[in-house]
Amino acid sequence: MPTITNHMPTAELQALDAAHHMHPFTQNAGLAKKGARIITRASGVTLTDSEGHEIIDAMAGLWCVNIGYGRKEMAAVAARQMEELPYYNTFFQTSHVPAIALANRIAELAPGDLNHVFFAGSGSEANDTNIRMVRHYWALKGKPEKSVIISRKNAYHGSSMGSGSLGGMAAMHAQGGMPIPDIVHIDQPNWYSEGGDQTPEDFGLERARQLEAKIKELGADRVAAFIGEPVQGAGGVIVPPATYWPEIQRICDKYGILLIADEVICGFGRTGNWFGSQTMGIRPHIMTIAKGLSSGYAPIGGSIVCDEVANTIAQDEFNHGYTYSGHPVCAAVALENLRIIEEEGIIDHVRDVAHPYLAESWHALGDHPLVGETKLVGLMGSLALSPDKARRAPFAAEAGTVGYIVRERCFANNLVMRHVGDRMIISPPLVITPAQIDTLIERATRAFDEAYAQVKAEGLMKAA
Ligand SMILES: *Cc1c(COP(=O)(O)O)cnc(C)c1O
Repeated sequence: MPTITNHMPTAELQALDAAHHMHPFTQNAGLAKKGARIITRASGVTLTDSEGHEIIDAMAGLWCVNIGYGRKEMAAVAARQMEELPYYNTFFQTSHVPAIALANRIAELAPGDLNHVFFAGSGSEANDTNIRMVRHYWALKGKPEKSVIISRKNAYHGSSMGSGSLGGMAAMHAQGGMPIPDIVHIDQPNWYSEGGDQTPEDFGLERARQLEAKIKELGADRVAAFIGEPVQGAGGVIVPPATYWPEIQRICDKYGILLIADEVICGFGRTGNWFGSQTMGIRPHIMTIAKGLSSGYAPIGGSIVCDEVANTIAQDEFNHGYTYSGHPVCAAVALENLRIIEEEGIIDHVRDVAHPYLAESWHALGDHPLVGETKLVGLMGSLALSPDKARRAPFAAEAGTVGYIVRERCFANNLVMRHVGDRMIISPPLVITPAQIDTLIERATRAFDEAYAQVKAEGLMKAA
């Protein structure tokens, strides 16, 4: 058996990785030829790889490391909890201190009467819980036929059968038999790509009213819930026009449809408030949480549920749960994360310091010849690449060709910025400082210049 240490040569680590480790959302044969970049350490907003490069992580891992890397208090809490009670379940009419304390803290933080938490191990699991919970809720109300959940194309809600079905990713639905029954999708509020000649405001209303049309088509007595991310993350940081969410809220209210806000990315400070629903002015019945709940230090997710739904579900045995629902170590780590966010004023930092500072240079990138649109909500941002800004035109080349080139140049310049098709996205740790933002923008600018030169040289600067 080989022993892997951080000091084994990179090429050997890459060979072992290729031989035995199947990467998610990856063409593994291609990666095996190229070799994965091996990350060995991280601190603050900076990753270190096995070659000693220091890389700014402008994605906070997968949108999750809100408090930044390397916080020793988190490790101390995990170690202490493992010694005291590493595991116990919450199925057998038992409970434990970390789960109780965390549920209580989340209920304090969540707006309105979102007072109850059902724990899961991840965002995907939490959304699977939501599917079963809203359907069971309506069954208990004597309306078992109210089972359809309406979601949106290009939404991301996770990768399990249920959550992947809620998501609207065509490439995911093409594999493995998704979506499951009674989940339907309407169009996304992506004005930049799909808004044509309409104003963003008109377009936002039109896309929201697709929900009303879909409810009328199916019959309100068939529809259980609508689910959406306050700001679509994995779909490319799609910020809806200001008219969109108020209209969705009106429609859900009018037809008695439950509203589920998937806060897995937007929650815990990302948009400059505790929850994206507050930033967007909506009142969901259920929120999905994960990622920033523990800043990624331990896997934990959950559903925050309003009084009406929780009290109804409480009347019956809900035949659902996960071995790791409310895992004591993960719950203790999440609680410490929430303490750090609160006591260090990290959300104020996002709203009053980091967002305004980043906004200036982020929007200035809009002058770059490759960039057609810039968006930034709190600390989640996107840049739409375009060969013809005036028309918001896509490239003639296959979607993602140019985005991939930009991503590669970013990586080569020690900056992790992700591409979704031809949109570049960032979601840095919330603790990022103005000086670190300067470095991020410097590297991004260099990467964009290099990518632009390459795109022109390869004849890719052509509109579709
Ligand atoms: C990442 C994500 C999920 C899935 O969470 P996992 O922990 O990866 O299962 C669900 N919803 C949104 C909005 C996400 O970004």
